[in-house]
Amino acid sequence: MDCPDCQSKNTKKINNKTASGYEQYRCCKCHRQYNERTGTKLNLIEYPTEVVMIAVHYYLLQTRMAVLNNELHEHFRRWCKSFAIANDEIMEVKKVA
Ligand SMILES: [Zn+2]
Repeated sequence: MDCPDCQSKNTKKINNKTASGYEQYRCCKCHRQYNERTGTKLNLIEYPTEVVMIAVHYYLLQTRMAVLNNELHEHFRRWCKSFAIANDEIMEVKKVA
């Protein structure tokens, strides 16, 4: 894994994981120690990457379902409106007959 600080490829894996279980590395050029989440958006999040990814997935799924639900609601509203008009027309036909 390249060094996130100096981008050197001359790094080595340390036989010690973080408290969260992530692999740690040391840069042979700048001697900085980092882990596989250093420099990523996940770095300061206290939850495991898998948990974050599942949470994001379900949040997006829920958001898409809400949008779909709103679209369906609009379709159903139009259907009900058109059925009501059709029902009125049917009632008018019955009154004439
Ligand atoms: Zn470095």
